[in-house]
Amino acid sequence: MKSSSELKQMLKQVDHKGYPAYKSLRGQYDFGDFVLMVDHVQGDPFAAPSSVSVSVPMAKAAFPDEYRDKEYSRTALEDALLRKFSGEIARCSFKAKGSGKSGLFATSRPGPEILRRSAMCVTAQAVTARFEVGFPANGRTINARELEKMLFEFLPPAVTQSLFYRNWDKKILQNVYELSVDQHYIRQELPKRKLIAFLAEGSILPRMSGVSSKPLKNAVPLSVPDSMRVDLNLPCHGPISGLGIPEGVTLIIGGGYHGKSTLLTALEQGVYNHIAGDGREYAITEDTALKIRAEDGRSVQNLDLSLFIHNLPNGKDTTCFSTVDASGSTSQAAAVMEGIEMGSHTFLIDEDTSATNFLVRDEFMQKIVHGDKEPITPFCARVRDLYEKAGVSTVLVAGSSGAFFHMADTVIQMDSYHPLDVKGRVERFLPDYPLPEFAAGEFALTQEDRAFWGRGLRRNDRIKTKVMTTDGFSINREMVDLRYVEQLIDSEQTAALAGMLKYALTHLSGTSTVRQVAGMLDGLARQKGIDAFMDGYAYCGMALPRIQEIYAMLNRYRGK
Ligand code: ADP
Ligand code: MG
Repeated sequence: MKSSSELKQMLKQVDHKGYPAYKSLRGQYDFGDFVLMVDHVQGDPFAAPSSVSVSVPMAKAAFPDEYRDKEYSRTALEDALLRKFSGEIARCSFKAKGSGKSGLFATSRPGPEILRRSAMCVTAQAVTARFEVGFPANGRTINARELEKMLFEFLPPAVTQSLFYRNWDKKILQNVYELSVDQHYIRQELPKRKLIAFLAEGSILPRMSGVSSKPLKNAVPLSVPDSMRVDLNLPCHGPISGLGIPEGVTLIIGGGYHGKSTLLTALEQGVYNHIAGDGREYAITEDTALKIRAEDGRSVQNLDLSLFIHNLPNGKDTTCFSTVDASGSTSQAAAVMEGIEMGSHTFLIDEDTSATNFLVRDEFMQKIVHGDKEPITPFCARVRDLYEKAGVSTVLVAGSSGAFFHMADTVIQMDSYHPLDVKGRVERFLPDYPLPEFAAGEFALTQEDRAFWGRGLRRNDRIKTKVMTTDGFSINREMVDLRYVEQLIDSEQTAALAGMLKYALTHLSGTSTVRQVAGMLDGLARQKGIDAFMDGYAYCGMALPRIQEIYAMLNRYRGK
């Protein structure tokens, strides 16, 4: 390893030379308090910036052991360090001047979710931060004096302020740690109490707007009906009381605009932990919960849809069904079957984003269109078996059809943003509204694993990927559309999924099943970190997706 004074010398040597001379700076430099690593040097001042990292030995960073022993607290610590570091270097961005991206300092900027990210990594040995630096130039002529300012004047204080425990307000990090312990405790507590979610009283569920993840100002805090109240004793926060959503079939009803979808969205997002101040700190949903929605036009591959669809007019086999352009109801049936395959224990469904003919069919319609002319067995006819025989709970927003009343264990009415337990009231009316009979076949699930359809690519093939926020990514010009994978919430997760697909396609051996591919990718990400999927040296911020989103990505890959 070279010393920082050697780096200063090298900077003098490349000053005023053509831009490619910067390439010689690749390497590691000892700055005393930390090691600076120039991992990748950009080709010119207008190209993607250079990739740089700093590593502080834990002996110097000195974060307490208990903050990093457990994965959940370590992730929370990494998240807090990243937010701080990101803010510190953003303040120095473009203070150094030049053409194009000269002077840029940037790293990942997390939203309210706490995710494992490639930008910050804490181990027993060191704290490592990855970021981008625009190496300065005038035109294409190196301005090394400006780079010297960036690396020797601006960077060191940003590093010491954020990556050294001694410079932190201890209370802040203690709060981060305690929140992570409490959130983990609630997650552990859910199955023990046969709950799929816990939402603390007073939580702020609505967001500022459809495009903002900030809490809505002056929102009505969540209230809790006594019959659904669950009391917990959190290890750090102490006693807390909230709305417990039990396993089974839960119906959310209520008039339009009363907060039904907002509650369901909170359940969708509760699979992630949120930072303090978000309003959803203690709104926790079991980890495998999956939003199920219609998504017409998506591709479906080799899936057994016979639980919901049979006797298609074109005679197509629905026990191993493929299409490049699914209908609304077919896509939603596919989502349910894929959800079972990926081992999700909870389905979250909103009628707003469902195919009506997938959810229910009323008696009058059944009289006119006979069973043998209707290929769809509605979800309503399966939702009980789904819970009783397959162990999958459902939370369903249904403000328009009473058919699900017969199926529900729990009925919540949203009334001016207040949840009410109306199960008792519903029960009194049930005898007056008999349930229409559905000609549903037996509830049987196939055991067989599906083969994955992606064709292996050679490792040295040039595979181009391009990431488009959370809308998806392209791989060798094929678009993988993830717009309707609503629990994918960060473009860095999309970047990780793109890296994962590339990895899978270049490491496929023989015939793998979808389950094997998803398991392999998830396992690798958890053991080795998401860095395992970064290829080349160019900076790429990645965040860890759940295995549910890994499956969702594989399932939407057309492989053409
Ligand atoms: P529904 O699905 O019942 O039609 P939504 O959940 O879409 O209703 O909510 C309707 C509107 O009310 C949204 O703009 C939402 O932001 C707002 N809202 C939801 N919950 C609250 C709350 N607790 N306090 C204030 N406004 C809320
Ligand atoms: Mg709604």
